[in-house]
Amino acid sequence: MDISNGFVGTVGNTPLIRLNRMSNETGCEILGKAEFLNPGGSVKDRAALYIIRDAEERGLLKPGGTVVEGTAGNTGIGLTHICNAKGYRCLIIIPETQSQEKIDALRTLGAEVRTVPAVPYRDPNNYVKVSGRLAEEMDNAIWANQFDNVANRRGHYETTGAEIWEQTGGKVDIWTTSTGTGGTFAGVSMFFKEKNPSVRSIVADPMGSGLYSYVKTGTISTEGKSVTEGIGISRITANMEGAPIDDAIQIDDRECVRILYKLLEEEGLFMGGSVGINVGAAYALAKQMGPGHTIATVLCDGGSRYQSRLYNREWLAEKELLPDSVSAPPS
Ligand code: PMP
Repeated sequence: MDISNGFVGTVGNTPLIRLNRMSNETGCEILGKAEFLNPGGSVKDRAALYIIRDAEERGLLKPGGTVVEGTAGNTGIGLTHICNAKGYRCLIIIPETQSQEKIDALRTLGAEVRTVPAVPYRDPNNYVKVSGRLAEEMDNAIWANQFDNVANRRGHYETTGAEIWEQTGGKVDIWTTSTGTGGTFAGVSMFFKEKNPSVRSIVADPMGSGLYSYVKTGTISTEGKSVTEGIGISRITANMEGAPIDDAIQIDDRECVRILYKLLEEEGLFMGGSVGINVGAAYALAKQMGPGHTIATVLCDGGSRYQSRLYNREWLAEKELLPDSVSAPPS
Protein backbone atom coordinates (compact mmCIF):
# COMPACT_ATOMS: atom_id res chain seq x y z
CA MET A 1 0.00 0.00 0.00
CA ASP A 2 1.24 3.48 -0.83
CA ILE A 3 -1.35 5.90 0.56
CA SER A 4 -0.60 9.42 1.81
CA ASN A 5 -1.99 10.48 5.16
CA GLY A 6 -4.28 13.38 4.16
CA PHE A 7 -3.11 16.72 2.74
CA VAL A 8 -0.24 16.86 5.19
CA GLY A 9 1.11 13.52 4.02
CA THR A 10 1.48 14.83 0.47
CA VAL A 11 3.77 17.76 1.31
CA GLY A 12 7.34 17.29 0.06
CA ASN A 13 9.01 14.39 -1.78
CA THR A 14 8.82 16.42 -4.99
CA PRO A 15 10.68 15.38 -8.15
CA LEU A 16 14.06 16.88 -9.04
CA ILE A 17 13.83 17.95 -12.69
CA ARG A 18 16.81 18.14 -15.04
CA LEU A 19 16.37 21.27 -17.14
CA ASN A 20 17.36 19.52 -20.33
CA ARG A 21 17.90 22.37 -22.77
CA MET A 22 19.86 24.53 -20.37
CA SER A 23 21.87 21.55 -19.11
CA ASN A 24 22.75 20.42 -22.64
CA GLU A 25 23.62 23.96 -23.65
CA THR A 26 25.98 24.59 -20.70
CA GLY A 27 27.36 21.07 -20.15
CA CYS A 28 26.26 21.30 -16.51
CA GLU A 29 23.46 19.43 -14.79
CA ILE A 30 20.95 22.16 -13.94
CA LEU A 31 18.40 20.63 -11.60
CA GLY A 32 15.16 22.20 -10.37
CA LYS A 33 13.40 20.93 -7.25
CA ALA A 34 9.76 20.81 -8.35
CA GLU A 35 8.18 22.58 -5.39
CA PHE A 36 5.29 23.77 -7.54
CA LEU A 37 4.09 20.15 -7.28
CA ASN A 38 3.46 20.43 -3.55
CA PRO A 39 -0.26 20.06 -2.76
CA GLY A 40 -0.68 23.78 -1.98
CA GLY A 41 1.32 24.64 -5.10
CA SER A 42 4.54 26.04 -3.65
CA VAL A 43 7.73 25.56 -1.68
CA LYS A 44 6.01 27.21 1.29
CA ASP A 45 3.89 24.15 2.08
CA ARG A 46 6.96 22.71 3.78
CA ALA A 47 7.55 25.75 6.01
CA ALA A 48 3.81 25.97 6.82
CA LEU A 49 3.74 22.33 7.90
CA TYR A 50 6.86 22.56 10.04
CA ILE A 51 5.71 25.79 11.73
CA ILE A 52 2.29 24.32 12.64
CA ARG A 53 3.78 21.02 13.78
CA ASP A 54 6.31 22.83 15.93
CA ALA A 55 3.55 24.91 17.59
CA GLU A 56 1.52 21.74 18.24
CA GLU A 57 4.51 19.94 19.72
CA ARG A 58 5.23 22.86 22.02
CA GLY A 59 1.58 22.91 23.14
CA LEU A 60 1.10 26.45 21.79
CA LEU A 61 -1.60 25.54 19.29
CA LYS A 62 -4.65 23.78 20.68
CA PRO A 63 -7.71 22.34 18.89
CA GLY A 64 -9.83 25.08 17.34
CA GLY A 65 -6.96 27.58 17.53
CA THR A 66 -6.00 30.23 14.98
CA VAL A 67 -2.82 30.56 12.97
CA VAL A 68 -2.02 34.19 12.14
CA GLU A 69 0.56 35.24 9.57
CA GLY A 70 1.74 38.14 7.48
CA THR A 71 2.50 36.67 4.09
CA ALA A 72 3.06 37.59 0.47
CA GLY A 73 0.80 34.73 -0.47
CA ASN A 74 2.32 31.29 -0.75
CA THR A 75 2.89 30.77 2.97
CA GLY A 76 -0.72 31.82 3.54
CA ILE A 77 -1.92 29.33 0.97
CA GLY A 78 0.09 26.52 2.57
CA LEU A 79 -1.01 27.51 6.09
CA THR A 80 -4.69 27.69 5.08
CA HIS A 81 -4.67 24.22 3.52
CA ILE A 82 -2.96 22.75 6.57
CA CYS A 83 -5.27 24.63 8.98
CA ASN A 84 -8.30 23.25 7.11
CA ALA A 85 -6.89 19.74 7.19
CA LYS A 86 -6.08 19.98 10.92
CA GLY A 87 -9.13 21.95 12.11
CA TYR A 88 -7.57 25.37 12.79
CA ARG A 89 -8.61 28.85 11.64
CA CYS A 90 -6.25 30.93 9.56
CA LEU A 91 -5.94 34.75 9.56
CA ILE A 92 -3.72 36.23 6.86
CA ILE A 93 -2.38 39.79 6.65
CA ILE A 94 -1.16 40.62 3.16
CA PRO A 95 0.27 43.75 1.51
CA GLU A 96 -2.27 45.14 -0.97
CA THR A 97 0.41 45.24 -3.71
CA GLN A 98 0.37 41.45 -4.04
CA SER A 99 -1.26 39.80 -7.05
CA GLN A 100 -5.06 39.57 -7.00
CA GLU A 101 -4.83 35.87 -7.89
CA LYS A 102 -3.08 35.14 -4.58
CA ILE A 103 -5.49 37.24 -2.49
CA ASP A 104 -8.52 35.60 -4.17
CA ALA A 105 -7.04 32.15 -3.75
CA LEU A 106 -6.58 32.68 0.00
CA ARG A 107 -10.19 33.79 0.47
CA THR A 108 -11.48 30.91 -1.64
CA LEU A 109 -9.48 28.46 0.44
CA GLY A 110 -11.14 29.78 3.58
CA ALA A 111 -8.63 32.09 5.21
CA GLU A 112 -9.75 35.37 6.70
CA VAL A 113 -7.67 37.89 4.71
CA ARG A 114 -6.93 41.48 5.69
CA THR A 115 -5.01 43.64 3.23
CA VAL A 116 -2.80 46.44 4.52
CA PRO A 117 -0.76 49.14 2.72
CA ALA A 118 2.75 48.04 1.70
CA VAL A 119 5.13 49.87 4.02
CA PRO A 120 8.76 49.07 4.98
CA TYR A 121 9.58 46.65 7.77
CA ARG A 122 10.67 49.45 10.12
CA ASP A 123 7.12 50.88 10.00
CA PRO A 124 4.88 49.53 12.82
CA ASN A 125 2.12 49.09 10.22
CA ASN A 126 4.22 46.71 8.14
CA TYR A 127 2.16 43.57 7.42
CA VAL A 128 4.52 41.30 9.35
CA LYS A 129 4.32 43.48 12.46
CA VAL A 130 0.53 43.81 12.19
CA SER A 131 0.21 40.02 12.08
CA GLY A 132 2.38 39.62 15.19
CA ARG A 133 0.33 42.16 17.15
CA LEU A 134 -2.99 40.56 16.14
CA ALA A 135 -1.82 37.08 17.18
CA GLU A 136 -0.78 38.43 20.57
CA GLU A 137 -4.19 40.05 21.13
CA MET A 138 -6.17 36.89 20.28
CA ASP A 139 -6.92 33.88 22.51
CA ASN A 140 -5.62 30.46 21.45
CA ALA A 141 -3.73 31.90 18.50
CA ILE A 142 -0.17 31.59 17.28
CA TRP A 143 1.90 33.84 15.10
CA ALA A 144 3.52 31.69 12.43
CA ASN A 145 6.33 34.28 12.15
CA GLN A 146 7.88 32.62 9.10
CA PHE A 147 10.78 35.09 8.88
CA ASP A 148 12.17 34.48 12.35
CA ASN A 149 10.69 31.11 13.28
CA VAL A 150 13.47 28.63 12.58
CA ALA A 151 11.02 25.73 12.32
CA ASN A 152 10.84 27.08 8.76
CA ARG A 153 14.46 26.33 7.89
CA ARG A 154 14.37 23.10 9.89
CA GLY A 155 11.69 21.92 7.44
CA HIS A 156 14.04 22.54 4.55
CA TYR A 157 17.03 21.04 6.38
CA GLU A 158 15.15 17.84 7.20
CA THR A 159 13.21 17.49 3.95
CA THR A 160 14.23 19.65 0.94
CA GLY A 161 17.97 19.34 1.59
CA ALA A 162 17.82 15.65 2.46
CA GLU A 163 15.67 14.89 -0.60
CA ILE A 164 17.94 16.71 -3.09
CA TRP A 165 20.97 14.99 -1.55
CA GLU A 166 19.37 11.60 -1.99
CA GLN A 167 18.01 12.37 -5.46
CA THR A 168 21.47 13.37 -6.73
CA GLY A 169 23.34 10.64 -4.84
CA GLY A 170 25.18 13.46 -3.03
CA LYS A 171 26.50 14.91 -6.28
CA VAL A 172 25.84 18.63 -5.86
CA ASP A 173 28.51 21.24 -6.62
CA ILE A 174 26.42 24.40 -6.33
CA TRP A 175 23.27 25.26 -4.44
CA THR A 176 21.56 28.48 -5.42
CA THR A 177 18.17 29.98 -4.64
CA SER A 178 16.60 33.33 -3.87
CA THR A 179 15.42 34.22 -0.38
CA GLY A 180 12.17 35.53 1.04
CA THR A 181 12.46 34.38 4.63
CA GLY A 182 15.67 32.55 3.74
CA GLY A 183 14.23 29.28 5.09
CA THR A 184 14.79 27.36 1.87
CA PHE A 185 18.28 28.73 1.20
CA ALA A 186 19.48 28.32 4.78
CA GLY A 187 17.99 24.91 5.58
CA VAL A 188 19.31 23.30 2.42
CA SER A 189 22.67 25.07 2.68
CA MET A 190 23.14 23.81 6.24
CA PHE A 191 22.26 20.26 5.25
CA PHE A 192 24.56 20.22 2.21
CA LYS A 193 27.51 21.74 4.10
CA GLU A 194 27.22 19.09 6.79
CA LYS A 195 27.36 16.41 4.12
CA ASN A 196 30.11 18.04 2.07
CA PRO A 197 31.67 21.40 3.01
CA SER A 198 32.86 21.96 -0.56
CA VAL A 199 29.32 22.45 -1.89
CA ARG A 200 29.07 26.15 -2.80
CA SER A 201 25.97 27.95 -1.49
CA ILE A 202 25.16 31.00 -3.56
CA VAL A 203 22.34 33.44 -2.87
CA ALA A 204 20.36 34.42 -5.99
CA ASP A 205 19.18 37.97 -5.41
CA PRO A 206 16.67 40.07 -7.36
CA MET A 207 17.29 43.81 -7.74
CA GLY A 208 16.00 45.78 -4.76
CA SER A 209 17.08 43.08 -2.29
CA GLY A 210 19.83 43.70 0.24
CA LEU A 211 21.52 40.31 0.43
CA TYR A 212 23.77 40.71 -2.61
CA SER A 213 25.48 43.75 -1.11
CA TYR A 214 25.54 42.06 2.31
CA VAL A 215 27.43 39.08 0.92
CA LYS A 216 29.76 41.19 -1.22
CA THR A 217 30.50 44.05 1.20
CA GLY A 218 29.16 43.10 4.64
CA THR A 219 26.53 45.84 4.66
CA ILE A 220 22.95 45.68 3.49
CA SER A 221 22.11 48.19 0.80
CA THR A 222 19.68 48.01 -2.08
CA GLU A 223 19.68 49.15 -5.66
CA GLY A 224 16.86 49.07 -8.21
CA LYS A 225 13.64 47.09 -7.84
CA SER A 226 12.02 43.90 -9.03
CA VAL A 227 8.59 42.71 -10.14
CA THR A 228 9.16 39.32 -8.51
CA GLU A 229 6.99 38.44 -5.51
CA GLY A 230 7.83 36.65 -2.29
CA ILE A 231 11.58 37.17 -2.53
CA GLY A 232 14.14 39.82 -1.67
CA ILE A 233 15.08 40.79 1.89
CA SER A 234 16.65 43.78 3.54
CA ARG A 235 17.55 42.33 6.91
CA ILE A 236 19.14 39.15 8.21
CA THR A 237 16.20 37.05 9.41
CA ALA A 238 16.62 34.45 12.15
CA ASN A 239 16.30 31.85 9.39
CA MET A 240 19.31 33.34 7.57
CA GLU A 241 21.34 33.88 10.75
CA GLY A 242 24.39 31.62 10.67
CA ALA A 243 23.48 30.06 7.32
CA PRO A 244 26.52 29.15 5.23
CA ILE A 245 26.77 31.59 2.28
CA ASP A 246 29.72 31.42 -0.13
CA ASP A 247 28.70 34.07 -2.61
CA ALA A 248 25.77 35.93 -4.18
CA ILE A 249 24.63 36.65 -7.70
CA GLN A 250 22.24 39.34 -8.85
CA ILE A 251 19.67 38.68 -11.58
CA ASP A 252 17.65 41.56 -13.02
CA ASP A 253 14.02 41.39 -14.12
CA ARG A 254 14.80 41.33 -17.86
CA GLU A 255 16.89 38.20 -17.43
CA CYS A 256 14.31 36.76 -15.03
CA VAL A 257 11.50 37.14 -17.58
CA ARG A 258 13.70 35.88 -20.43
CA ILE A 259 14.41 32.74 -18.39
CA LEU A 260 10.73 32.28 -17.50
CA TYR A 261 9.78 32.23 -21.20
CA LYS A 262 12.75 29.98 -22.00
CA LEU A 263 11.49 27.57 -19.34
CA LEU A 264 7.99 27.70 -20.82
CA GLU A 265 8.94 27.44 -24.48
CA GLU A 266 11.93 25.09 -24.28
CA GLU A 267 11.44 23.05 -21.11
CA GLY A 268 7.62 22.98 -20.94
CA LEU A 269 7.62 24.51 -17.45
CA PHE A 270 5.12 27.28 -16.61
CA MET A 271 6.75 28.96 -13.60
CA GLY A 272 6.34 31.83 -11.14
CA GLY A 273 8.62 34.88 -10.99
CA SER A 274 11.10 33.74 -8.36
CA VAL A 275 11.93 30.75 -10.55
CA GLY A 276 13.22 33.17 -13.19
CA ILE A 277 15.68 34.51 -10.60
CA ASN A 278 16.66 31.03 -9.37
CA VAL A 279 17.12 29.40 -12.76
CA GLY A 280 18.65 32.63 -14.12
CA ALA A 281 21.27 32.31 -11.36
CA ALA A 282 21.83 28.59 -11.99
CA TYR A 283 22.23 29.23 -15.73
CA ALA A 284 24.65 32.13 -15.20
CA LEU A 285 26.68 30.06 -12.72
CA ALA A 286 26.78 27.13 -15.15
CA LYS A 287 28.25 29.42 -17.78
CA GLN A 288 30.73 30.94 -15.29
CA MET A 289 31.87 27.60 -13.85
CA GLY A 290 32.08 25.74 -17.15
CA PRO A 291 30.89 22.21 -18.01
CA GLY A 292 30.78 19.31 -15.58
CA HIS A 293 29.08 20.91 -12.56
CA THR A 294 25.83 19.94 -10.91
CA ILE A 295 23.76 22.94 -9.89
CA ALA A 296 20.60 22.59 -7.83
CA THR A 297 17.91 25.23 -7.47
CA VAL A 298 14.20 25.52 -6.69
CA LEU A 299 11.12 25.75 -8.91
CA CYS A 300 9.17 27.53 -6.15
CA ASP A 301 5.69 27.85 -7.66
CA GLY A 302 3.78 27.75 -10.94
CA GLY A 303 2.97 30.53 -13.40
CA SER A 304 -0.81 30.58 -13.07
CA ARG A 305 -0.54 32.73 -9.94
CA TYR A 306 1.08 35.44 -12.09
CA GLN A 307 -1.06 35.19 -15.21
CA SER A 308 -2.15 38.82 -15.10
CA ARG A 309 1.42 40.08 -14.81
CA LEU A 310 4.32 37.93 -15.99
CA TYR A 311 2.21 36.14 -18.60
CA ASN A 312 0.35 39.22 -19.85
CA ARG A 313 2.13 40.90 -22.76
CA GLU A 314 0.48 44.31 -22.16
CA TRP A 315 1.79 44.32 -18.61
CA LEU A 316 5.23 43.13 -19.71
CA ALA A 317 5.40 45.77 -22.45
CA GLU A 318 4.45 48.49 -19.98
CA LYS A 319 7.28 47.37 -17.68
CA GLU A 320 9.68 47.09 -20.65
CA LEU A 321 10.15 43.42 -19.88
CA LEU A 322 8.77 41.85 -23.05
CA PRO A 323 11.08 38.97 -24.05
CA ASP A 324 12.16 38.61 -27.72
CA SER A 325 10.01 35.50 -28.21
CA VAL A 326 6.75 37.30 -27.30
CA SER A 327 5.19 39.61 -29.87
CA ALA A 328 4.42 43.15 -28.77
CA PRO A 329 0.77 43.94 -27.99
CA PRO A 330 -1.16 45.98 -30.59
CA SER A 331 -0.62 49.64 -29.80
N1 PMP B 1 9.48 32.02 -4.21
C1 PMP B 1 8.21 32.29 -3.89
C2 PMP B 1 7.21 32.35 -5.00
C3 PMP B 1 7.84 32.49 -2.55
O1 PMP B 1 6.56 32.76 -2.24
C4 PMP B 1 8.83 32.44 -1.55
C5 PMP B 1 8.49 32.67 -0.11
N2 PMP B 1 7.98 33.91 0.21
C6 PMP B 1 10.15 32.18 -1.93
C7 PMP B 1 10.44 31.97 -3.27
C8 PMP B 1 11.30 32.19 -0.93
O2 PMP B 1 11.27 31.16 -0.01
P1 PMP B 1 11.86 31.34 1.45
O3 PMP B 1 10.86 32.08 2.27
O4 PMP B 1 12.07 29.95 1.93
O5 PMP B 1 13.14 32.12 1.35
